[in-house]
Amino acid sequence: MTDVHAVDPSAGPMSCREATARLWEYLDGELNVEHSAGVRRHVAACPSCAARHDGALALLRTVLRTRHADAVPPTLRPRVTAMLRAQGLLA
Ligand SMILES: [Zn+2]
Repeated sequence: MTDVHAVDPSAGPMSCREATARLWEYLDGELNVEHSAGVRRHVAACPSCAARHDGALALLRTVLRTRHADAVPPTLRPRVTAMLRAQGLLA
């Protein structure tokens, strides 16, 4: 735990804009530990981003279940993103 940015609360919370922008990468597990922790912290503290996160996660789970697939096709993500935008779940 020598990373000065990772767990220091004084570094300041991630903004809603940044948390939203990173939401899919977070759900995909594509973020590094530092950014992932930042999104997790922000979602835990911010009701509106928590709603976005929950909505995105629920939709992702539904899509994965209905697709009955081990991996999400690369073409699917833009469509899901568009759906989330249409529902106001994604900025
Ligand atoms: Zn927020």
